[in-house]
Amino acid sequence: MFENKERTAISELGEFGLIKHLTNSFKIQHESSIKGIGDDAAVLDFTGKQTLISTDLLLEGIHFDLAYVPLMHLGYKAVQVNLSDIYAMNGIATQITVSIGLSSKFPLEAVEEIYKGIELACNKFNIDLIGGDTSSSKQGLVISVTSVGFADAADVCYRNGAEEGDLICVSGDLGGAYVGLQILEREKQIFLENPQLQPDLEGKDYIIERQLKPEGRRDIVDLLSQMKIKPTSMIDVSDGLASEILHICTQSDKGCTLYEEKIPIDPMTYDTARELGLDPTVCALNGGEDYELLFTIKQADYSKLKNDVDISIIGHITDKNAGCNMISKSNVSHELKAQGWNAFKG
Ligand code: ADP
Ligand code: MG
Repeated sequence: MFENKERTAISELGEFGLIKHLTNSFKIQHESSIKGIGDDAAVLDFTGKQTLISTDLLLEGIHFDLAYVPLMHLGYKAVQVNLSDIYAMNGIATQITVSIGLSSKFPLEAVEEIYKGIELACNKFNIDLIGGDTSSSKQGLVISVTSVGFADAADVCYRNGAEEGDLICVSGDLGGAYVGLQILEREKQIFLENPQLQPDLEGKDYIIERQLKPEGRRDIVDLLSQMKIKPTSMIDVSDGLASEILHICTQSDKGCTLYEEKIPIDPMTYDTARELGLDPTVCALNGGEDYELLFTIKQADYSKLKNDVDISIIGHITDKNAGCNMISKSNVSHELKAQGWNAFKG
C-alpha cells in the first residue's frame, strides 16, 4: 500500500517530534477544551452538563485488513465509529484522544495518512483532538480512540428505557457495510490469486463507502432535537440490527416485534447480497458496521417523524413474555437471535 512511496523512518523524528508533526495542524474549536495536547492530561469543562465518554480499540488483522482499507479511511472510520457511540447517547461529541501502536513496517508517510483521515473526521464533525498516546508495537497497527461529549442530564438516552407499545425506529439503511465488506474480501482473494487483475468495484460505490467510510449520525440527533422527540432508548448499529434490538430489549426488560418488510435496505445492498447468494435481511440483521441509530419512541411522537424519509419504523416493543421476534415477508414469526460480529469468535 505504501511500499512504493516515499518512506521516512519514524525513528528520524523521535516520539515527541512525531506527535508534534502529526498534530500540528489540528485546531481547538470548543470552549470546553480548556487544555488539549501538551500537558500530562487534557482539561475539559462542561459546566452543568453530563459528560459522555466512549472508547474503541482497533487491532490490525482483527478489526481491519490493510489489504483493502486505505490508511486515510482507517483514521476516518476509527473516529466516526467512536463518535457514533456518543450520538447513540443522544449527546454532542466534542473531543477525542487517539492512541496508536506502530510496528516498524509503518513509515511516517503511513501514519500521516491515518492522521489525515482523523483530521478530516474532526473537521467535518467539529471535534477537538486533545491528546493520546504513541508507542511502537511488535506487530501490526493498533488504534484506540476515546471520544468525549456532553448532554443535559434530561436528554441522555440509555438502552434501558424502552416501554411496551413504543415504536422501534432506525435511521438510514442497513446491511450495506457488510455486503460492501464481502465485495472487498472477494476482490482481495482474486488479487491474491492473480495480482495482475485490477479490483472490480464497478457500480458498488455506495456499499464500499458504507464499509470504508461510515459516518456517525449526528444529523439524526439534531433532527430528533428539532422535532422535540426524546427517544425512550437508543443504540448505534455496530453489530447488526438483531444484536442491537436484543440489547435494548434485554436492558429494558421487554420483548419486541420487528417486520421484515419494514427493514430499510438499499437496492444496491439488496441486489449485491442476492448476487453473492446472501439473504439481504440476514445481512441487515447480522451484518453490522452500519453505524445507524436504532431507537424507540412513544407512540405519541409518531406523527412528528412519520414523514421523515431517513427514518423507518420497523416494529414495536412488547411485553417481555412475548419474546423478540421478526415477522417475515411471508408472515411467519421468527425468534431473533444475536449473531452479530464478534471479535472473539474463532
Ligand atoms: P506522557 O508521557 O504523559 O504519556 P506523551 O509524551 O505520551 O505524554 O504525550 C505528550 C502529549 O501529546 C500529551 O498531551 C498527549 O496527550 C499527546 N499525544 C501523545 N500521543 C498522541 C497521539 N498519538 N495523538 C494525539 N496526541 C498525542
Ligand atoms: Mg504517553
